Amino acid sequence: MQLPDFPLGGGCQCGRVRYELMAPPLSVYACHCKDCQRFSGAAWSMSMPVRRETLRHLQGGLRAFDKPADSGRTVRMLACAVCGTNMWNEPLSSPDIFVVRAGTLDDIDWIEPVGNIWTQSRAAWVEIDPALINFPGQPPSREPLYEAWTHKTGAPRA
Ligand SMILES: [Zn+2]
Ligand SMILES: [Zn+2]
Repeated sequence: MQLPDFPLGGGCQCGRVRYELMAPPLSVYACHCKDCQRFSGAAWSMSMPVRRETLRHLQGGLRAFDKPADSGRTVRMLACAVCGTNMWNEPLSSPDIFVVRAGTLDDIDWIEPVGNIWTQSRAAWVEIDPALINFPGQPPSREPLYEAWTHKTGAPRA
């Protein structure tokens, strides 16, 4: 798979929030936890962990919501202050990464997920490809998801 050229842009629905991703993400995977189903309004959300220094918030006010995650850790979720689009979250337990909502990128052709997490709470009709890197709940570490992404895209190692 071919990675696009960086930086890449992304933003919210109303256009006030814009960001730039300066380097390839560490991985892209689907999350089927109940919280993701609620805030995305869909059966899963697409998570894209990135190194904090590679995400540049260019414009637009954000509002924060500190959410106790299913995993028991606290996650700070950042959304556009005006239109409410979920942009990224800051896992307070992982101070080196942001987890960007991958669907907010302008171009999503290249972000095919390498795996699934929280498959135990997926919708009954969702089929999980057993060839991907899958976890029934919160993965003990994101390493296998990073590794699969590096393998698939040739992105530099985390
Ligand atoms: Zn907005
Ligand atoms: Zn989730």
